Amino acid sequence: MLGLKGKTVFISGASSGIGKASAEAFAMAGARLILCARSIDKITALAEKLKEHYETESIVIKLDVRDRSAVEEAIDTLPEEWKKIDILLNNAGGALGLEKLHEGDPSDWDTMIDTNIKGLLYLTRKIVPLMLKYQLKGHVVNIGSIAGIAAYPNGAVYCATKAAVHCLSDGLRMDLVDKPIRVTNIQPGMTETNFSNVRFHGDEKKAAAVYAGIKPLTSDDIADIVIYATSAPEHVQICEVTVTPTNQATGGVVYKKNS
Ligand code: NDP
Repeated sequence: MLGLKGKTVFISGASSGIGKASAEAFAMAGARLILCARSIDKITALAEKLKEHYETESIVIKLDVRDRSAVEEAIDTLPEEWKKIDILLNNAGGALGLEKLHEGDPSDWDTMIDTNIKGLLYLTRKIVPLMLKYQLKGHVVNIGSIAGIAAYPNGAVYCATKAAVHCLSDGLRMDLVDKPIRVTNIQPGMTETNFSNVRFHGDEKKAAAVYAGIKPLTSDDIADIVIYATSAPEHVQICEVTVTPTNQATGGVVYKKNS
């Protein structure tokens, strides 16, 4: 892919789903990668696989994005030549629980707010100043969600975190309007990854039921959009992309066969 060869891309949540698929797509395009997630084994295996198949190099960082001082240390201790991060993909995140707000588990709320909002903020706060310092034509890509456009029943807190991602993306774009740094918010609908397994705390039956009767998006579909946005000509800023399976209209309006 033109334009991405040799770029340095930082991906949070690279161990699974959209982050992992994006890592493969960037590797295929000749970018070099900083892969982070809590599952160090998975990102280490991914880095090895990418090196075997593509002209790329990667470093892996075991990182919990909720831990502000760990995020700061991870970025501060990057080798100097890896600090020139051209693209930040803020992808780490997810949903926990699907229940009425007044019956929800506050520890699930903490996890979602700390990961989806604060983790994204911590990484952005550390990496955008590096893009400015090194005068890079940088790009911040946030993985928001269709859930950030309007709430759906039993998902209020997750939806609120993704509404925050929407707002933070818009605000960052405004704050960087005089700089050569682009900001993109990608808002997927139903995408079959480990997302629903995590949401239902490992209940695979419940997770599988989410995708029954509909052809969901795949993580490769979202990676395609990440690549499209980041390889667009430098004067083109894709601000926002909302993408759903054909049989999904909004977060809550979904057509499923036989249901
Ligand atoms: P997955 O569960 O497959 O992947 C989530 C990724 O986030 C994993 O790599 C996980 O790594 C990482 N992660 C979670 N918590 C942390 C943390 N505290 N610190 C570092 N990494 C973390 O789900 P998806 O690929 O679907 O999710 C990616 C993003 O896409 C999320 O932000 C999600 O909200 C969003 N999204 C997903 C949709 C879907 O339908 N799947 C729809 C719309 C948006 P590890 O556990 O190893 O740390």
